[in-house]
Amino acid sequence: MHSPLFMDAILEELGLTDYFARCPDILLAVEMDGTVLAANEAAAEILERERACFPGLDVFQLIAPADRPAARRTWRELDRQAENDTSLHAHLVRTDGSNVPVEWFAWSAGGREPAIRVMRFRDLSGEQRATEEIRLRNVAIDSLTSGVTIADAQLPDIPLIYVNKGFEQITGYKAREAVGRSCRFLQNDDRRQPALDILRAALRAGEACTVRLRNYRKNGEPFWNELHLSPVYDRAGVLTHFVGVQIDVTDRVESRLRLEESEERYRTLAENTEDIICRLSPGGIIQYASPSITRHLGWEPQAWHHQPFEQLVYPEDRDGYRRETTALAPGRESCKHRFRLRTAGGESIWVEAASTLVATEGLEANIVSVVRDITLQRKAEEEIRIALARERELNLIKSRFIRMVSHEFRTPLTGISASTAFLRDYSTDLPPAKRARHFDNIARSIKRMNQLLDDVLFVSRDESGRLPFNPEPVDVPAYCESLIDEMLAAYPGRRIELDCRLGEARTLALDPNLLHHILQNLLTNALKYSPEDQPVEFSVEREEPSGTLLWAVMDHGIGIPEAEQAQLFQPFERLSNVGNQRGTGLGLHIASRSAQLHGGTITFSSTPGGGSRFVLHIPLPV
Ligand code: ADP
Repeated sequence: MHSPLFMDAILEELGLTDYFARCPDILLAVEMDGTVLAANEAAAEILERERACFPGLDVFQLIAPADRPAARRTWRELDRQAENDTSLHAHLVRTDGSNVPVEWFAWSAGGREPAIRVMRFRDLSGEQRATEEIRLRNVAIDSLTSGVTIADAQLPDIPLIYVNKGFEQITGYKAREAVGRSCRFLQNDDRRQPALDILRAALRAGEACTVRLRNYRKNGEPFWNELHLSPVYDRAGVLTHFVGVQIDVTDRVESRLRLEESEERYRTLAENTEDIICRLSPGGIIQYASPSITRHLGWEPQAWHHQPFEQLVYPEDRDGYRRETTALAPGRESCKHRFRLRTAGGESIWVEAASTLVATEGLEANIVSVVRDITLQRKAEEEIRIALARERELNLIKSRFIRMVSHEFRTPLTGISASTAFLRDYSTDLPPAKRARHFDNIARSIKRMNQLLDDVLFVSRDESGRLPFNPEPVDVPAYCESLIDEMLAAYPGRRIELDCRLGEARTLALDPNLLHHILQNLLTNALKYSPEDQPVEFSVEREEPSGTLLWAVMDHGIGIPEAEQAQLFQPFERLSNVGNQRGTGLGLHIASRSAQLHGGTITFSSTPGGGSRFVLHIPLPV
């Protein structure tokens, strides 16, 4: 081992002291046989040996075994030239066996015999790492699908100096076509974009920005370019570059635009339709209600936002509504149901809702209900239903009427025709009594037909609302007496027992005409449908404390079959109990309508075979 003083002396002698002290690379002064004479501090530091250990070492021992043959070859070749003109790569070995990659040069130190060589080894380990890192980063940048560009901020127009493969793929331009040009060429003539103003301002100010530009590929196809621009400053704070990252967001933008467009279209539809459109969460909470809710129900749509739809449903209809909507499930995605909705004014309207389960990928299915106000429709349906029932009833009445007319007219007409024929043929030969009987017969038949026509006319006038109610003071007991006389004239030999319990107040305001229609029919029936030897009981009294006038007609006759009692007051309706008794089936109908016109009612009780009791109730002021 030589002392440092020895080394310094040699270096001094060679005039290399300063060079060895300042050079950051490993420097060795080596004899021609490879023996090291001196080393600098960098050698000691990089190779991790004491500087004093270097003198006397074989320089080839410092070189990694694998690199030694090449190093020796070069060393020998150096004999023929002053210095090696190309750099050589090798590895030096440390005492711990680790390698240091180096680039080395050697030259002869002038003016000394025997010659001494200076060897300079540049430590490449730091550089190699950096190069490797750069290589790795380049691979990473090139494997990106996003575009990466670097532009030189110090050159006019900020030209691109680097573009990666992602950029080439997105734009269709090769790196050689893009480098050297301003990024502007991606714009074509489409220069009037608000995002460009933001980009220009960021470039001018040397600031970062993110913009979405409509750019054009080399083939002219437009695409949406989301550009993230970052400025790069050097250590002195001077703007040197701009790094741009470009992402092709065409699909995203277009599907967003499509979504917005379709959302807009459906919103316009929902907001302009007559129906109420609601979107409900699976739990029935209103997510959206169209503005038509105000028109139909008087509620503001916001008032129901995030509220259960069920609360809008009329309380009595909630169970049915719940049953229908909770049954919605895959396989039964839609239903149509009718229910009432509450209005803001506290009323309700009838609606028909078409509810559909709408599934959106990845989300819970919503219920979309299209709710139509059917109040008018229901009213119309109800009217049609009533009209139909009325028509059916009228048809029934018509057929009963025809049956009655054909039967009830034919009998008196046959009588008239027989009597007139008899009188025509035998008039002169007939004794006066017999002739008179035929004339009576004709007169009775005509009277009967007249009565029939009167009854039909009554019904027709009633139908058209032309029956008047004309009350006037009526002396009730006298009226009853006269009515009984009239009845007994038609039914000679019968008995009608009157029980008038009116006391002093005998004159009352009544319509004698309507009263006659009622009582005459009730009394006629009582006489017709009871045996001749049985009296008919006729009573009139005032009920306390209402003051209602009660007229009762009771017979001890055949009674009314229970099963047919509901049809009793129907026009032209004759029951199965009539036997040979003549009639039109109009009497009780006329009586009941007259009672109604008088503001009263008729009630009855009857036992088949046990007689019947009809009571006319006429309300009177007390
Ligand atoms: P009609 O002309 O047939 O008597 P009404 O309208 O007066 O018609 O009576 C309808 C039907 O009611 C009668 O056909 C008869 O079947 C029954 N009826 C009415 N009054 C009585 C009564 N007092 N006793 C038994 N049946 C009666």
